[in-house]
Amino acid sequence: MKFTELGLDAGILRAVTDQGYDTPTPIQAQAIPLVLAGRDLMAAAQTGTGKTAGFTLPILQLLSQGSGLSAKRFKPRALVLVPTRELAVQVNESVRTYGKHLPLRSTAIFGGVGIGPQTRILRAGVDIVVATPGRLLDHLNQRNIDLSGIEILVLDEADRMLDMGFIRDIRKILALMPKKKQSLLFSATFSDEIRGLVAGLLNNPATVEVARRNAPAEAVAQWIYHVDRERKRDLLIHLIEEHQWHQVLVFARTKHGADALSERLGRAGIRSAALHGNKSQGQRQRALDDFKALKVHVLVATDIAARGIDINELPHVVNYELPNVAEDYVHRIGRTGRAGSSGEAISLVCVDEYKLLRDIERLLKRELEKRIIPGFEPDPRIKAEPIMKGRRSDATGASPGGRSSHGGFRPPQPAKSNRKSPARSGGTHQPGGRHH
Ligand code: AMP
Repeated sequence: MKFTELGLDAGILRAVTDQGYDTPTPIQAQAIPLVLAGRDLMAAAQTGTGKTAGFTLPILQLLSQGSGLSAKRFKPRALVLVPTRELAVQVNESVRTYGKHLPLRSTAIFGGVGIGPQTRILRAGVDIVVATPGRLLDHLNQRNIDLSGIEILVLDEADRMLDMGFIRDIRKILALMPKKKQSLLFSATFSDEIRGLVAGLLNNPATVEVARRNAPAEAVAQWIYHVDRERKRDLLIHLIEEHQWHQVLVFARTKHGADALSERLGRAGIRSAALHGNKSQGQRQRALDDFKALKVHVLVATDIAARGIDINELPHVVNYELPNVAEDYVHRIGRTGRAGSSGEAISLVCVDEYKLLRDIERLLKRELEKRIIPGFEPDPRIKAEPIMKGRRSDATGASPGGRSSHGGFRPPQPAKSNRKSPARSGGTHQPGGRHH
């Protein structure tokens, strides 16, 4: 299957070719014809599957063929709701990239930056608005935008928006749109809450479901290092230096922890930056740009801040701390081994985290390979302590996970030390439990 067989216009095809793509990903091959045919869509697809182009390309086409060709002042024709600022910027970039030969205007609307420039753009009129729910509501309250002309609505990463507590905002926004419109919903999971949302919104939707473009089993080698709580920093520095990692995404559980770790790495001479919800939009964008340009080698991020980061072929992901919720592990390691390249996902696990590790292994339906590095062997006398901070420390208004971490995990088995050329953990596993 080629892009040329999907019924897309020449201008859009040219933009796709300019990106170097000639073969649609499975989600694109399925979704594009359905959206072009005017269907509502319920798509189970995660980041990394090519979903953004899967909705962007047909929307551009529908809008450029549509009756009212250009947007009126205040009145956009398509709205894409996304959970985070980073995703808003990225989706808007995709709209611009694929729409560069078309006379359509788009903008990204998100919080954490001044409202004035966004107001001017919205009032002047754009065809496509990519927005986070909170800031969009601010603009709606100030009458900077009128949703009565929306023809197409996309809810991107709907599960994350609900996780982040946006459900009420979303419902308010939905109430301001015409009933008759085309709606597309993308989500990695389909909880009862999502199904509830879908029921009132989608009209006889087509469903599309794809596996990750690179299932972890194919592309990502995963293992854990057992190490004491207090020695994680030194082990991380050791690993980065020993293997000369030049682009590592490190996950920390809290904003404060991310800052502290980034500073510690800096003192060890490793160029690093922290990415979390307390950083300004400018700081976040700079951190991401520097990381992509390899000016900083380590990005220490919280789960929420890392959502939607799109870096091709990210070679290493490190779970400095395990996530409180096992599904987040799959999200995290989905950051590596994308676009056909292989990657490594490494977790540093201390005695406090055995229960979390067990949860992850249950979700993955297999055990992760355990390794111990000589000089970093865990001290069996150290007892587990509760993990205090919840996973949602970075989210707006959502409650912390609040789970304790005790549990009768069997102690680590000593010691494999083939650290020079670590054997890939094989297996044919594909993590289950994401789609229902
Ligand atoms: P997404 O799932 O939308 O975040 O896309 C993941 C990555 O795949 C992005 O870097 C896209 O630029 C890239 N991509 C999208 N469509 C294709 C395609 N047809 N062929 C190769 N790469 C693609």
